[in-house]
Amino acid sequence: MSEHRHDLHDCSSVIEQVYAFHDHELSAEEADEIREHLMACEPCLDRFQVEEAMRMLIRRCCREDLAPEGLRVRIQASFTEQVEVESD
Ligand SMILES: [Zn+2]
Repeated sequence: MSEHRHDLHDCSSVIEQVYAFHDHELSAEEADEIREHLMACEPCLDRFQVEEAMRMLIRRCCREDLAPEGLRVRIQASFTEQVEVESD
């Protein structure tokens, strides 16, 4: 815990931008920054992969049996957590 301490602050905004990244609403430069952060920050990479898996699951909602039970539980837990944080 020294050189990466600023990441704690960066991470929340990175997660937000991951959504824009997914929707192709970022410039190539911005997308590069996100990707760079994801490669250097394991929690964010993990989160990013969960988001991606979740989107795939949503797209394949009629074939949810494709996802292993453990993954579904993990994705659902992550999604619930996020909904609670954002609760609009
Ligand atoms: Zn991060």
